[in-house]
Amino acid sequence: MVKNNNKIIIAGPCAIESKKQFNDTIENIYHETDIIRCGAWKARTSPYSFAGRGENSLKWIQNVQKKFNVRCAIEIGTLNHLNLALEYNINTFWIGARTTCNPFTVEEISKKLKNKNVEIWIKNPIFPDIKLWIGAIERFKKNKKNTIKLIHRGFFLENSKKYRNQPRWDLLKIIRQEYPEIPIIHDPSHIAGNRELIYPICKKALEKKVDGLMIEVHNEPDNALSDSKQQLSPIQFKQLLISLGLK
Ligand code: PEP
Ligand code: MN
Repeated sequence: MVKNNNKIIIAGPCAIESKKQFNDTIENIYHETDIIRCGAWKARTSPYSFAGRGENSLKWIQNVQKKFNVRCAIEIGTLNHLNLALEYNINTFWIGARTTCNPFTVEEISKKLKNKNVEIWIKNPIFPDIKLWIGAIERFKKNKKNTIKLIHRGFFLENSKKYRNQPRWDLLKIIRQEYPEIPIIHDPSHIAGNRELIYPICKKALEKKVDGLMIEVHNEPDNALSDSKQQLSPIQFKQLLISLGLK
């Protein structure tokens, strides 16, 4: 189901922090959202940063899926994450930018999903090495039953000033030429790193004819335990969709 002008809208918090934070956020956005994004395990650079609520959040996801009749997607970074998520009836997953860089993990996860009717989204690798992205895509393409989408979340560049991650529209063009049949979802949150830049980046992405947007939304962004500068409030999210002509 696509609710907004044929664009797939994926929204939800960077990380699930508590049952209440998750429920309060989703209650305010599920009408405008095709699929909820949720972070159960967060791949943090520092071991001292908030890393998610792990398996506890899978129970809250299961409740939210039933309560609001919505589909939730989570990032899986290990085979263990995937096995647990499958136990909780989650069937939409994504491979994070750091994991796309690790062919061992991608191989392991893709083997487990071989005969499963699931949806898998593959984020671009954190570095502008398009071959890593292609390698991950090919590993899931071999699984005929998996539905694949790509997520454009930008690329790390040492001297990036304006953006947290560079969009590198040129690389997006190459990947689209390579896989014209696979939908591309644009993730402005991790490119911007800053909520003020989300609107102009989305506008540009829509001009480039991406198939959807994945946006981080939190009921109290300033108090978020991860990515607080880039998350939108539910009201800002709705205003964004209106400004983009998607609502
Ligand atoms: C995320 O989507 O929560 C995330 C960690 O993003 P990325 O893998 O793009 O850094
Ligand atoms: Mn995030």
